[in-house]
This record gives sequence, structure tokens and C-alpha cells, in this order.
Amino acid sequence: TSFAHFGFDEQLMHQIRKSEYSQPTPIQAQGIPVALSGRDIIGIAKTGSGKTAAFVWPMLVHIMDQKELEAGDGPIGLICAPTRELSQQVRGSMWEQTKALQLGAEIVVCTPGRLIDLVKKKATNLQRVTYLVFDEADRMFDMGFEPQVRSIANHVRPDRQTLLFSATFKKRIERLCRDILMDPIKVVQ
Ligand code: AMP
Repeated sequence: TSFAHFGFDEQLMHQIRKSEYSQPTPIQAQGIPVALSGRDIIGIAKTGSGKTAAFVWPMLVHIMDQKELEAGDGPIGLICAPTRELSQQVRGSMWEQTKALQLGAEIVVCTPGRLIDLVKKKATNLQRVTYLVFDEADRMFDMGFEPQVRSIANHVRPDRQTLLFSATFKKRIERLCRDILMDPIKVVQ
């Protein structure tokens, strides 16, 4: 597979060319077409697999489409990561692209605890979120964030697309997937 197979528009292709990646990683080759089709995803992938781009690039396409449909406040893309460090890493990976495509305001990357604080304080609202990502879900569970993860999923409109990434796929994650994903496709690194 080459990047050209994804059907990304010229603006996004330009950003990808600048990254100088030679070809999609396996999780990207499998996951991106599924994400672009609008289906929910369970992605079993570790750090280093290229998973961030696998959910970020389709998110940028989703937002570019959605932005014209619905003007309003609050993010369209919401990414939850277990730690501040990982949130910053994800934000760092997206930065150049979101800036170039002028999508910064449409995306929030946050830990579950912080996000719930922001919602409670009404510092952000989730009404417009239609693309929801849980990154490193198994680590969020290890850190005791299961209630927060479930609460976030309950706060986001049901007609969303949800992508959940985890390095492992144990019973608790499987149960969560049954509860918060709709007819997901599983992609494995
Ligand atoms: P991640 O698994 O998302 O943490 O990504 C791990 C590293 O792989 C990051 O430094 C990315 O910049 C890099 N990366 C992402 N996609 C590709 C690709 N297609 N080819 C080579 N490196 C990549």
C-alpha cells in the first residue's frame, strides 16, 4: 500500500510528503481505509506502530468534511490519552498538519480526568464531537480511568465514530468495546 491509495486530498498529501515517511505502517494500511469509511475501530497496536497517524489522518478528513456541515463551538475531534505526556506527544504529532489545515480549534487532546473537569466547568462542550478516540485504553484502565472513559463516551452523541486503541485486548477492554463501539472492525498491528 502507498499513501496515494487512501484518496487523501492534496493538502493532506502535501503534509504527509513533508513527513518523509516512505510507506504506511501495517496499522495505517489496515486501519485508515476502515476509519475513512466511517466505521468504528478496535485497534490493537503498540507505541511505535504508527497508530497515532492511523487515527489522526482520518480525523482530519472527517473534520474537513464536518466543519462545512455544522458551524458551532466545541471540538469535532476528541482524543483521550492516559497521561499528559502522551496527550502532548499526540498533539505534537498532529501539530504541523492541524496548523496547515487550520483545524486546531476543532480538536481536543486530553486526559480523561482533565476532560471531565473541563466539561463540568463548562470550559468546553462536547455537543459537536463526532470523532472520538481512546488511545492506550488498557493503560487508562490500569490507571483507574474506566469510569471516566465510560462517562466521556456517554457524554458524546451516539451518532459519532469511535476508535479505540489498546496494546492488549483483555476481558475488561472487550466489555468496554461492546458497550461504547458500534459494530466495530478490529485491526491488529
Ligand atoms: P506512534 O506509534 O504513533 O507513536 O508512532 C511512532 C513513530 O512512528 C512516530 O515517531 C511517527 O512519527 C512515526 N511514523 C508514523 N507513521 C510512519 C510511517 N508511515 N513511516 C515511518 N514512520 C512513521
